[in-house]
Amino acid sequence: MSRPGSPGTQPGPERTLPVPATAGAPADVGTAFAVPTSPRQALAELHAGNRRFVTGAPRHPNQDAGHRAAVADGQHPFAVIVGCSDSRLAAEIIFDRGLGDLFVVRTAGHTIGPEVLGSVEYAVTVLGTPLVVVLGHDSCGAVQAARTADATGTPPVGHLCAVVDAVVPSLRRAAAEGVDDIDGIVDIHIAHTVEAMLGRSAVLAVEVAAGRCGVVGMSYRLTAGEVRTVAEVPARTADAPETAASAALA
Ligand SMILES: [Zn+2]
Repeated sequence: MSRPGSPGTQPGPERTLPVPATAGAPADVGTAFAVPTSPRQALAELHAGNRRFVTGAPRHPNQDAGHRAAVADGQHPFAVIVGCSDSRLAAEIIFDRGLGDLFVVRTAGHTIGPEVLGSVEYAVTVLGTPLVVVLGHDSCGAVQAARTADATGTPPVGHLCAVVDAVVPSLRRAAAEGVDDIDGIVDIHIAHTVEAMLGRSAVLAVEVAAGRCGVVGMSYRLTAGEVRTVAEVPARTADAPETAASAALA
């Protein structure tokens, strides 16, 4: 299964980061894999790949030499994954995707700083990627480290402080909501990361409000391999009046 790139229009970010003439126009016409162009389609594709992974029937799409060559001159990833760096959370594996499909940014505890936000904004506005996923997981070591540091009053050494500091607001929210189990705190931290990303990135918020992009928070279960949605913007609220934005993920 393969799809062509757009020779001469979008060199990969590993070489340069030019702004193409027309962002958000995946070249999927006439190929076996129709690149998702809406948040809903992208989300469905991720869930389909995760089901294949969970059931032990991965197809490993877009990992062959032909596809490697096809995407060398341009990329059209259909989802941004802002995930925890945990070594068991490899995005292309758990969503059963291949080269050129996912734009992945990973930090411990999926903490977001300026470089992370800039990377997300690049994918959404320059590459036209229609979906951003914050991907956390059960038993997250970064959340556990923050919890320990907060409980003992002992700050971690070096730059790990930055990770802990970024998680502490989620600990406060969890405490306010009476949540004290680690996986419940992780869910709150994932939702908080979604909110923080939209609050700090006006560029992303505009794309979401216009219905061109959706942001979803997912929690991954290390043993089962499943992802579970814990936050979604725009929300799938049946009673809410439909707008371009709410229809995007409805
Ligand atoms: Zn983690």
